Amino acid sequence: MKYDVVVVGAGVAGLYSSLVLASKGFRVALVESKPASKIGDKTCGDAIGVHHFQHIGLRLPEDIIDHVYRGVKIYSPSERHEIIVPGEGVSVNRVKLGQWLLKQAFDRGVELLDQHSVIGVNMRGDRVGSIIAKKVGGGIVELEAEAFIDASGSKPALRSRLPETWPISDKPYTTDFNIAYREVVEYDGGVREEDRDYAVIYLNTIIAPGGYWWLFPKSRDGRVINVGLGVIWNGLHNPRHNYDKYLRQRFNGKVLHAGGGIVPTRRPLPTMVWRNVGVVGDAAYTVNPVHGGGIGSSLEAADIVARHVGDALEQGEVSEKTMWEANIEYMRAYGAKQAGLDILRMYMQKLSNEDFEWLMANKIVDGASVYDIGVKGELGEKITHMILSVLRALSRPSLLNQLRIVRNYMKKASELYLDKYPSTPNELPSWMTMVEDMVEEYRRIIGFNKGERVKW
Ligand SMILES: Cc1cc2nc3c(=O)[nH]c(=O)nc-3n(C[C@H](O)[C@H](O)[C@H](O)COP(=O)(O)OP(=O)(O)OC[C@H]3O[C@@H](n4cnc5c(N)ncnc54)[C@H](O)[C@@H]3O)c2cc1C
Repeated sequence: MKYDVVVVGAGVAGLYSSLVLASKGFRVALVESKPASKIGDKTCGDAIGVHHFQHIGLRLPEDIIDHVYRGVKIYSPSERHEIIVPGEGVSVNRVKLGQWLLKQAFDRGVELLDQHSVIGVNMRGDRVGSIIAKKVGGGIVELEAEAFIDASGSKPALRSRLPETWPISDKPYTTDFNIAYREVVEYDGGVREEDRDYAVIYLNTIIAPGGYWWLFPKSRDGRVINVGLGVIWNGLHNPRHNYDKYLRQRFNGKVLHAGGGIVPTRRPLPTMVWRNVGVVGDAAYTVNPVHGGGIGSSLEAADIVARHVGDALEQGEVSEKTMWEANIEYMRAYGAKQAGLDILRMYMQKLSNEDFEWLMANKIVDGASVYDIGVKGELGEKITHMILSVLRALSRPSLLNQLRIVRNYMKKASELYLDKYPSTPNELPSWMTMVEDMVEEYRRIIGFNKGERVKW
């Protein structure tokens, strides 16, 4: 079976990549392990900022939106202090979103091979020639294409099978991930009125070490909720246990959906294109390292990478050279911010409940500065000045010093992914060494143990 492009995985990233390419007239196969009716059924918090849809010009039909948020509310461990971060968001119905994107893809001519799992890759010279997929119930197919896109999520099925010398086969560390568990519940108690229109985040290192726990209302009356937690993957914590121990009783009610998953909470893959392969979504670590949201950035990455794959196909040469601009565009759009936030994420994972409580009780940061840090991925002059003066007034020299370090490395990280990102693939190896050295140095300074390399 011969195609222009084969896309592996029909999550938001794969669905969107395939429909972008099919609308340009390319013959696209979308390979997915699940049956078509289950596409979109992803365990998720379902919350997303509307700016992501605006960036790619995607207008969602009304029935996909379960609820609209006015912003994010963050509670301190004691739940006595809060920060409100303004910004419009929505709770989406993931199944409807997936099925709607699938229909758009079908309308543009995408061919879906559902219930097919990718199990192998055949090389043709120094490129991928074909992939091998196994059909549920038996049968093997081989799919040839000019270009391939890996959109198979946090355990990538394609790029993990590529030569180790290819930079897109990069293997992360366990602490680059959060493991999460969540339930959608018809909640007997109902969400308090003042929280109903917010995606609510609770900082608590006992319940969610190295992550947070959340309460995202899914209905306007606060009766249906998405409640869950994420923990750093370091072998010490189990999110399901913590859910049972700390949250189940508090959110009593009929469970409509339950499940877990892993989320890459780190800077992006060093390159999203190599030879005739592109990588998008969780497979390319496009998630926001601090809040773990990845739906929007998966769509944005898919839009960018698919357009460049399309242009390369039109030029008749699909390679990292012809698609390089995809990296530069993504780093500008989101990747540099992720790199800065990855530095902040590691620092935040070292903080205790007492630290969070103190920071929030003393109003060291307000909603506007959290928004600003989230948008830019760096601690700007104004915010730093404000935080430093409060810390000075409160005589916290150790925090003052830590903040200077974090700020300095956040700046270095975003600069590396923005101004210093290689303009050609040849410069990639030396850039990767610079990034690794910088991150390693930072980890050493703050005493962050990176864990083990993962197997995929
Ligand atoms: C518990 C949890 C809560 C989250 N909450 C939020 C949130 O509130 N907001 C937000 O924005 N993001 C959230 N995220 C992150 C978000 O869900 C992901 O970033 C996003 O869905 C990634 O999309 P994707 O298309 O890259 O990957 P996926 O949605 O994982 O899609 C990958 C697809 O590839 C398929 N696949 C895998 N292997 C193969 C194979 N070998 N062959 C064929 N097909 C294969 C899978 O079946 C799947 O359909 C959460 C994640 C988790 C786990």
